[in-house]
Amino acid sequence: MAEIIIYHLYPAHLNLYGDRGNMLALCRRAEWHGIGIKVVPVQPGGSIDFANCDLLFMGGGQDSDQKLVAGDLKGRSSDLRRAVEEGMAVFAVCGSYQLLGRYYKTSRGEKIGGLEIVDLYTEAGQKRLTGNAVINCSLWEPPATLVGFENHAGRTYLGPNLQPLGEVLIGYGNNGADKTEGAVYKNVIGTYLHGSLLPKNPRLTDFLLEKALSYRNQGFKPAKLDDSLENRAHEAAIRLAGSRRHRRLSTRA
Ligand code: GLN
Repeated sequence: MAEIIIYHLYPAHLNLYGDRGNMLALCRRAEWHGIGIKVVPVQPGGSIDFANCDLLFMGGGQDSDQKLVAGDLKGRSSDLRRAVEEGMAVFAVCGSYQLLGRYYKTSRGEKIGGLEIVDLYTEAGQKRLTGNAVINCSLWEPPATLVGFENHAGRTYLGPNLQPLGEVLIGYGNNGADKTEGAVYKNVIGTYLHGSLLPKNPRLTDFLLEKALSYRNQGFKPAKLDDSLENRAHEAAIRLAGSRRHRRLSTRA
């Protein structure tokens, strides 16, 4: 039986707006597809065997938690970079997404050094960028929507050759200006979308499972799943994001 080993980084520190639900979705869908799954939670200072990791998941975190884990991550950066270059799958949300880049400069002007694995940098702005968001995700042809919830001060700017995860249809995305959201580098996906993201975007969940399997040359034989509930949640989130009342509230945030 195919098996995936997921390392869940710093679950006690990086878990905002339902990020833990991403783990539940990965585990449950893996089970439904007949894939064995092992989850290894890692706390700061804990050991990570990158040779034994197919998918690394990191949730979002407030600036203080981000700073705390950044130091721990820095010591692992060369191992992590090597694994990423070899094709390990990484899924990083918001604060963790920022840490994959060069730096995150907080609203107090403090610079938190990043892993420098993905060509991006982030600087906090005055107004938080908050609300339900919808993007047109270019991981697939034709592109398909992803829905999630964003709440960040950081404005992220991608390097010229970095592919965004998608184009913002509703919401702010990377920086509220250039209509890009998230980033894709090799099998790394970074995004501002919390929510939890994966339960209502099952296609992305399966995409991550497939990448994690292919890393160790395991094929993905998807089972035919009934996604009607997930799709209803997806559609409801799109409606909510597009409603005038929601837009009024989120511009006040
Ligand atoms: N501290 C970061 C910011 O506000 C990340 C917040 C988050 O992970 N939601 O930009």
